[in-house]
Amino acid sequence: MATDDVGADVRDASVDFRDLFRDLRTTLRAGGEDAQQSLQAIVELLAAHFRSDVCSLYQLDSAGDDLFLKATKGLRAEAVGRTVLHLGEGLVGTVAETRRPLALECAQADARFIFRPETGEEIYQSFLGVPLIRARTLLGVLVVQHREARRYGAEEIEDCETVAQFLSEMLQQVSHRPSARDDPSPQSSLRFSAVPLSPGLAVGKVVLYLKDIVIRRWRAPDPAPEVIRVQIALQDVEDALEALLHLPDAVADPEMRELLEADLMLARDHGWREKIVAMIGRGLSAEAAVQSVREDLRERMKVVSNDYIRARLMDLDDLSHRVLVKLTGEGHRNLSDGLPPDSILVCRSLGTAELLQVGQKGLAGLVVVDATPSSHLAIIASSLRIPALGQVPRTLTDLEDGDLMILDAVNGQLVGRPSPFVVAEFEAHIAARRTRDAQERSVASLPCQSRDGVPMQMMANAGLLLDLEEIDRFETVGVGLYRTEMAFLIRADLPTVDEQAQLYRRIYERMGERPVVFRTLDIGSDKKLPYLEDHPEEANPALGWRAVRVGLDHPDLLRDQFRALLLAADGRALRVMFPMVSEVEEFGVARGLLTSVLEDHLANGGPAPDPLEVGVMIEVPALLWDLERLLERVDFASVGTNDLLQFLYAADRNNARTDSRFEVLKPANLRLLTTIAATAARLGTPVSVCGELAGTPLGAIALVGCGFRTFSMGAARLTQIKSVLRALDVAVVEERVQALSQYLGGNVRGEIVDLAREFGLDSL
Ligand code: PEP
Ligand code: MG
Repeated sequence: MATDDVGADVRDASVDFRDLFRDLRTTLRAGGEDAQQSLQAIVELLAAHFRSDVCSLYQLDSAGDDLFLKATKGLRAEAVGRTVLHLGEGLVGTVAETRRPLALECAQADARFIFRPETGEEIYQSFLGVPLIRARTLLGVLVVQHREARRYGAEEIEDCETVAQFLSEMLQQVSHRPSARDDPSPQSSLRFSAVPLSPGLAVGKVVLYLKDIVIRRWRAPDPAPEVIRVQIALQDVEDALEALLHLPDAVADPEMRELLEADLMLARDHGWREKIVAMIGRGLSAEAAVQSVREDLRERMKVVSNDYIRARLMDLDDLSHRVLVKLTGEGHRNLSDGLPPDSILVCRSLGTAELLQVGQKGLAGLVVVDATPSSHLAIIASSLRIPALGQVPRTLTDLEDGDLMILDAVNGQLVGRPSPFVVAEFEAHIAARRTRDAQERSVASLPCQSRDGVPMQMMANAGLLLDLEEIDRFETVGVGLYRTEMAFLIRADLPTVDEQAQLYRRIYERMGERPVVFRTLDIGSDKKLPYLEDHPEEANPALGWRAVRVGLDHPDLLRDQFRALLLAADGRALRVMFPMVSEVEEFGVARGLLTSVLEDHLANGGPAPDPLEVGVMIEVPALLWDLERLLERVDFASVGTNDLLQFLYAADRNNARTDSRFEVLKPANLRLLTTIAATAARLGTPVSVCGELAGTPLGAIALVGCGFRTFSMGAARLTQIKSVLRALDVAVVEERVQALSQYLGGNVRGEIVDLAREFGLDSL
C-alpha cells in the first residue's frame, strides 16, 4: 500500500512533539563527539516513541549515490555500516529517490523490496520510510518497521515526517553528515550545467540569497505566545507588501501591481496559516512550524508539473522565507537596498515581485535553482534583459558570497571561482559579443530589408507590458503575437471586461500606430487558470482542453475578451488571432462569436474597428491538409512552429528529453513550410511565423528560403535577427534552401550554417 491510499489512522491522537524534541536534543548533546553513539541512542528513542520493533537511520554518502545503514534498533547490529543501497534501490532507495514517504502494510509483497540477509529484516512485515531532507538536500532516510502487518495512517506518516525534519536539522547542526564540501580543495573551480532562462553572458560576484535559515529553537512548551509571534511576523510581511504596492512604480505598472497583490493574497491564505498554527499546537515553535510547512510545500513543488501552480508554490516558499526572517532575525538580506555592482544573485527561488523590486540595479546575472524557462520569473528576467539560468544542481551550495562567477546563459553554463585564464577568455568573449550587440542595435533604425532589397517585416512576441519597452527601440516593429493569457495567469481571479480593456488600451497607447495582433486566450496545457473551476486534470493536457477549445466551450470568456478588445480599439485597427485551431469549421465558429459581439458593440453605439482582421495560428498539423480552405477564410495566418513541431513529431515541447530530440532543419520540414508560404502567397493571405524558430538565426534563414517575409519573435531576438535578414541575398537563399528541401538526407543544419557563412554570418 502506498501513501496515497493510506487506511484509517491507528493512532488515537496526534503526537505532542515537545517531550520528544527535548529528549532528542538531550540525546544528541549527550553523545558529544561520538556520532555513532548519538545516532544509536536516537534510533532507540524513536523506536520507543513510535512503539515500533525497528527504527533505522540510513545516511546518504557525500557523492549522493549510496545509502548506508548508520544506526538501527531492531535490525542486526552487524548490518550497521555494511548494508548499502543505491539511490532507487529497494524500499529505502525508493524513499530517497522519490523524496516521498512510503508506507507499506506488507513490505515483502512489494516488488521494490530487496532482501538483505545481514539485516534479519524478513520478520518485520510493515514498513514506513520518510526522507531526511534539509534545505532541499537529501541527507538520508528514517525507517520505522513493525513485526505485524499494519496500516500506517496519514497522521502517523505526517508525524514521522515532522520528526524527520527536526532530526535533519539537528543532524546538520552537529555535522554528522560528511559535508558536501568534502572535495579536496574548497577553493577549486566549480562548473555546472543549467538551463538558460534569459539569454546573455555575465561575469560578476556571487550574492547568495539562499534563504536557508537555521532553526535553533524547535519546541515551545506554550503555544499561545508562538501563535502571536507568527501573527506579528505575518502582519509585518503583509505591511511590507502593502508598502511596496504604494510605491509609485507599482501604482503605475498594473502588472507589478497584480504580482504584488497576488503575493499579498498568498500571505493572507487561510489554509497556509491554519497549517502553521496546527503545527504550533503540536509543540513546535513558531519558526519550526513555518519551516515544517515550508518543507512540505517544497516537496509538493517537486511533483507538480503545472508551471502556474509551481510558480505559486514558489511564491509561498518565498513568503515563508520572509516570515522566517522576521521570526529568527537571521538571513536578512534586503534586496530592496540594492546590490553591489556586477552582482550575480544566486537564489533557490525568487518571487516575481522581488525581481521587479531589484530591477536592473547592480544585477549582472541571476541564478534561480528552481526556475523553469516558462516561469514568470524567466519572462520578467528576459524583459529586463538580465542573463539568467535555472535548474542548477544542489551542489550550488558550495558557492560562497563574493565568489567570482561566470554565467553563460547562452550555452547553459556556470563557472564558480574560475581561474584567471578562464575569466580573461570569457571577458574577451563578452567584449566581442558587446561589439556585435552594439552593431546589431545600431541596425534598429535601419530599414528591414535584405541585401538585395527585398522588404521584410519584423514583429515582436509579447505577453507583458515590460516586453513593449524593448520593442520601443524599433520604430517600425509591431507585435505579431500578444499572448493575452499572460495577464490572466498572473492574477488570482478572472479580470473583468473593464480590467481587460484597460490593459489592452495601454498596449494601444504604447504601440501607437504600429500593428498589434492580439491572440485570444491560449490557456490550458501548462497554462491552466486555477480559478477556472471546471478545468479537468488531463492525462495529455497538451492535446487536451486548451486554447480556442476552452474559448468555444466557455463562450462567455471569449465574448468578454472580444468586448474588451473592441472597447480598447475604440475605432482603431483590431487584429485578433485564434490559437490551436484544429479545423476550418472551428475558426468559423470563433469568428462568428466575434461577429455577434461586434454587432452588440455597434448597436450600443461603439465605433467599428477599422480595419478588423481575424487570423489563425497554424499549430495543429491537421490544418496542413486543408490549407486552401483555411487560408481563403482568414484575414491572416501565423505559423506557431513551437506547437506545430511538437505535434508533428509527437514530441512534448515541455519535456527536456523530447524537446530537442528531432532536427528542425531537415528537408521534410523545409518542404512543409514552403507549402504553407506558397499557398498563402497564391491566395494573397498574409502569413508570418511566430514560433521560436523565427527568432533563431539559422531558422530565420531557412524560413526566408521557404518564402516567408514576416517574422515575429521574442523582443530580445529582434536586433540579431534583423542583422541576419539584412545580410541575406534572398534570391540566393531561396534557391539554395529550395534545393536543400529536396535532399534525401535527414539534416541540413550544416548546409544552412555554410550558407550563413557565405553572407558573413560566421558565429551562428
Ligand atoms: C507556437 O506554438 O509556436 C506559439 C507561438 O505559441 P505558444 O508558444 O504561445 O504556444
Ligand atoms: Mg502555441
